[in-house]
Amino acid sequence: MASVLVFVDISSAEPTRAARELLAIAGTLGEPVVACPHPVSDEAAEALGRLGVAEVFEPAAELPDVLVAAKAAFLAAAVEAAQPRAVLLGNSFEDREIAARAAIRLGSGVVTDAVAVAPDLSVTKSVLAGAYTSTCRVRSGVPVITVKANSAEPAEPADGAPAVRRAVEPQPVPAAARVTERSGRISSGRPDLAEARVIVAGGRGVDGDFGPLEELADLLGGAVGASRAATDAGWIEHSAQVGQTGKTVSPQLYISAGISGAIQQKAGMQTSKVIVAVNKDADAPVFEIADFGVVGDLFKVLPQAAEEIRKRRS
Ligand SMILES: Cc1cc2nc3c(=O)[nH]c(=O)nc-3n(C[C@H](O)[C@H](O)[C@H](O)COP(=O)(O)OP(=O)(O)OC[C@H]3O[C@@H](n4cnc5c(N)ncnc54)[C@H](O)[C@@H]3O)c2cc1C
Repeated sequence: MASVLVFVDISSAEPTRAARELLAIAGTLGEPVVACPHPVSDEAAEALGRLGVAEVFEPAAELPDVLVAAKAAFLAAAVEAAQPRAVLLGNSFEDREIAARAAIRLGSGVVTDAVAVAPDLSVTKSVLAGAYTSTCRVRSGVPVITVKANSAEPAEPADGAPAVRRAVEPQPVPAAARVTERSGRISSGRPDLAEARVIVAGGRGVDGDFGPLEELADLLGGAVGASRAATDAGWIEHSAQVGQTGKTVSPQLYISAGISGAIQQKAGMQTSKVIVAVNKDADAPVFEIADFGVVGDLFKVLPQAAEEIRKRRS
């Protein structure tokens, strides 16, 4: 059976949910193999084996600490070693850039923003702010496909021998910007916005107070997002912005609070599975795409929802 190469950074022994989703999709297309951009630990090789991965390609030595160029060069070399029928990556900014650079090296076509990949490698993606679903297929080289988080149920561990490690000599990296310093961001303890299954997002209507949204997000194990009006006001960091010029998200549940639903906001969240809108204006455009709408003051509605969830759990 032909292999399908999944590019994931396995930094901890347990692959993330996003990685397991890609492996599940790969398993429907062929035999999943992995390319990890740094040497893999024994524990990680065992964990990958339990997820049905036969081989993991790793760089022969640590890659130079440049932005994405070295990872793309390594991925291209791993594709040449593995000869897969397709390559899958996540859909973060970094993953998409790696996909594009690797595809240029391979002479391959790229599809980004995929939400499904069929056995014949035709790819479903949503386009034009989520208003249309399109199906497309790469016609040159090994298809390189970046898949949005929450597009599949993750692969579950079972019995399996550890993945066999294969060292790959990365292709030469041209002169590239070198990272000279890194500083950690203070972690909120919440899931990453792009991968979260639940997002509670606030807009100008929160008037500077994200407290009720954070409370609800924490109860639901979700992330906190925002409209551009809220990030521009400095009420929350820019990385929380959802929309055309922010992150594109596709959670199982998107709770929109105090957001009017401008086209640029919809562009980033319209493919969410279930959209709940809370807005005090019954004519707000967000209600046009909401599965459930509450016309009311978010400062009353969200705490009531949180209270009800707590009551049902106790
Ligand atoms: C090129 C370009 C790119 C852009 N990119 C983005 C983007 O990526 N993401 C994005 O979000 N925007 C983007 N925008 C901006 C976008 O056009 C809107 O201006 C923005 O989304 C509005 O944010 P908002 O809904 O929070 O604010 P508003 O439109 O002001 O809406 C606030 C809403 O809150 C409601 N409200 C007020 N108080 C309460 C309360 N107490 N309880 C409940 N509801 C309440 C009001 O009824 C209103 O509907 C972009 C614009 C441009 C031109």
